[in-house]
Amino acid sequence: MKITEHIKKAQGKTLFSFEIIPPRKGQHIQKLYDNIDPLMEFKPPFIDVTTSREEYIYIKKNDGLLERRITRMRPGTVGICSSIMHKYDVDTVPHVLCGGFTREETEYVLVDCHYLGIENVMALRGDAMKHESYFTPVENGHHYASELVAQISELNKGRYLHDIIDTPHPTDFCIGVAGYPEKHLESPSMEADLRRLKQKVDAGADYVVTQMFFDNKKYFEFVEAARAIGITVPIIPGIKPVSVQRHLNVLPQIFRINLPDDLVKEIEKSSNNNQVREIGIEWAVQQSRELIAAGVPVVHYYSMGRSDNIKAIASQVF
Ligand code: FAD
Repeated sequence: MKITEHIKKAQGKTLFSFEIIPPRKGQHIQKLYDNIDPLMEFKPPFIDVTTSREEYIYIKKNDGLLERRITRMRPGTVGICSSIMHKYDVDTVPHVLCGGFTREETEYVLVDCHYLGIENVMALRGDAMKHESYFTPVENGHHYASELVAQISELNKGRYLHDIIDTPHPTDFCIGVAGYPEKHLESPSMEADLRRLKQKVDAGADYVVTQMFFDNKKYFEFVEAARAIGITVPIIPGIKPVSVQRHLNVLPQIFRINLPDDLVKEIEKSSNNNQVREIGIEWAVQQSRELIAAGVPVVHYYSMGRSDNIKAIASQVF
């Protein structure tokens, strides 16, 4: 079922969902199941599965020199989606990226999703590769997520690339896109970023999932500003519980988000990561309760490969 249908069916009740990351190449899918199992009692209608970009790996050779190889360390998104969908009878949302993919490769991924009965996809640009200062698309790849959304919308109308098909059988994907309550790191202003979000919705996006935020005020203001410029689709808040002291520096650095000072002070006072984890859970519980009271359609949790803290939060609020 489409995410938008799940939201409609819930008739105002806030739904629980979460995002998982494929295991690293060489690991077993059981690791993923072990993290999903404890969360299924909260009846998520859908689970997101991220896609990772290719990256350069440096391998030390016998002569001491480094050999550079390019690889994708966490492949398998679509396969994982299909497997989870059938194992747990839940909808899955593969993340589809512009970065590293040509338009043709994107079409093949979407055709795979369609064959497998996957009805939702999250359309994202992806980040620049680690050695790049700016995001660069591959030749014949998309530069912005709005272009990817447009390609998926075309496919939903039965328009495949190059028109080299026998029958124009249309897909029917529900399309999610990313939104940034504290603006995307590359955007010159919040207003400019919101106009880009509107472009994605105008291109066919059906719903928005936000970047993590730790101050609900940012989300509420973001939704208000989005509504003011005519974005009417559901805006799903994304929540990540802080779990290690290092997050104080890493999260603002990677995602360009702010942590409220009350949260920072609490974490700074703690002497070990077990305490940080408890603080992160408590903070996320308070955030979730306020969001649910405000009537958000879904609270979407970033599990980052671990589910114990998400379970602790969900058991208090769902
Ligand atoms: P876009 O919407 O394309 O925006 C990127 C930047 O370009 C923004 O600053 C925007 O304002 C600007 N912009 C957009 N259109 C134009 C234009 N026409 N001209 C000029 N500027 C423009 N990354 C992964 O690698 N894998 C994942 O699975 C993944 N999942 C994510 C899930 C969520 C919910 C979120 C919030 C992010 C996720 N990301 C993921 C990270 C995401 O790929 C990065 O944040 C990326 O830098 C931007 O992606 P986007 O889709 O928002 O890009």
